[in-house]
Amino acid sequence: MLLKKILPALLLLTLVVCLTTRCKGPEPGVMTTFDKGNLEKYWKITDVITSDGQLQLEKNEASATSKFRVRDFELNLKMKTIQGAIGQLNFATTESYDSGNPKGYSVLINNSDYSIGQAQKTGSLSRIRNNFVRATSDDEWFDLNIAVIGNHIKVSVNGKVMSEYLEPQNAKRLEGLSGMVLSKSFISLRKVNDQGKILVADWKIKPITEGKDGAILPVKSDSLTDIIDSLNQREFPLIDFHVHLKGGLTMDQAVAHAKENGFCYGVAANCGLKFPVTNDSTLNSYLSSIQKEPVFKAMQCEGREWVTLFTPEAVAGFDYIFTDAMTWTDYKGRRLRLWIPEETFVDNDQQFMDMLVGKIEAILDGEPVDIHVNPTYLPAQLIARYDELWTKDRMDRVINALVRNQTALEINSRFKLPSIGFIKRAKAAGVKFTFGTNNAKNDDLGRLEYSIKAIREAHLTTEDMFLPRPRGERKILKKGLPAKVTG
Ligand SMILES: [Zn+2]
Repeated sequence: MLLKKILPALLLLTLVVCLTTRCKGPEPGVMTTFDKGNLEKYWKITDVITSDGQLQLEKNEASATSKFRVRDFELNLKMKTIQGAIGQLNFATTESYDSGNPKGYSVLINNSDYSIGQAQKTGSLSRIRNNFVRATSDDEWFDLNIAVIGNHIKVSVNGKVMSEYLEPQNAKRLEGLSGMVLSKSFISLRKVNDQGKILVADWKIKPITEGKDGAILPVKSDSLTDIIDSLNQREFPLIDFHVHLKGGLTMDQAVAHAKENGFCYGVAANCGLKFPVTNDSTLNSYLSSIQKEPVFKAMQCEGREWVTLFTPEAVAGFDYIFTDAMTWTDYKGRRLRLWIPEETFVDNDQQFMDMLVGKIEAILDGEPVDIHVNPTYLPAQLIARYDELWTKDRMDRVINALVRNQTALEINSRFKLPSIGFIKRAKAAGVKFTFGTNNAKNDDLGRLEYSIKAIREAHLTTEDMFLPRPRGERKILKKGLPAKVTG
């Protein structure tokens, strides 16, 4: 009789002990390295080969999923992708990740060249804080670090923060994405395509005790934040391609501003006559000085003389290059800089406009740049008559030149240019767009306000947006430089 009462209790106790033993993860506060000896204790392995102390994921859907649950942690991996392999590191997730109804967060592993395969690159906190910048490439070992503390998620590659997010209370998510929130749950490394291999040479985790003081950081919240969050959830490429380190703005400050606001940056050097980058050697040393920074590396081609100062091979070291039509020589041989009133000569409004449009056409046809920036800019004396002077005819001449040269059009947030009407017309003609701020100082970076307004008003989609060309497709290499200065 007594046995009958004790037996079920004993069985239950055994079950509880077993379950807790099974679920017990690495010790909080201690960095645990996974190796052959403890791998299967902590991870459920599917199609993962271990050899030479490395894990290899080759088959699509190969995975290692934790047997333990963890909420706050620091995770470090030394990895390498080969031949276009793509993977995900999921956390706060289920034991089997369902991309159609995702639970938790997903960090992308993809090192393909720009415009090849998936647009997002390694370190992207997918659908939350998308990263489009390539921090490493196939066949190179890299460090991936993911830290989750309280509501703060930080993803770094080779020591540089690629994406960062503060999860608000009651985070707003699009339909189907409501499971994308933090919780005490599983971690899973998965391969998600058929190509190549993912190798893991080193894998460590430090679970962090939850609820440490100050772990919940305040989250900025306004209507623009909501729009930016929802564009990220739609995987719209939110990239400001036109940022300068001017007025004391440092690379770290620029990157922090982008991360804080949920987009990516392309940082441009001004390259041309009387600029710090003025020949191949200054160009190469500039590029190597910023090589590791988590931003696109851009060249602003200055004046019209730039085509005579650099070789195409050196210029192709940049991810993309751009120029504007604000500097040119007029019919009387005067060098105009349209943003400087003393250097701008408007003898006759209509004649000036025709000359400007002709210069834009000559620049677009002659200079192999990827983006036409500060577009439709008018000097101060004409700006009030923008809509009247930019006639349909003139707009179409510029749009046709963009199309025939496959040059993208910048939507400039600081100048609020071009007009929404111009953008709609360009979209209808098949022009690709970029966003850009062209900050002049360290406090005018903004938050892409005008570009985001253009998305809504001109109905821009991901397909309308430009992404840098892969190395083999760079215009500067295919087309070369003109023999003489244009415009
Ligand atoms: Zn600029």
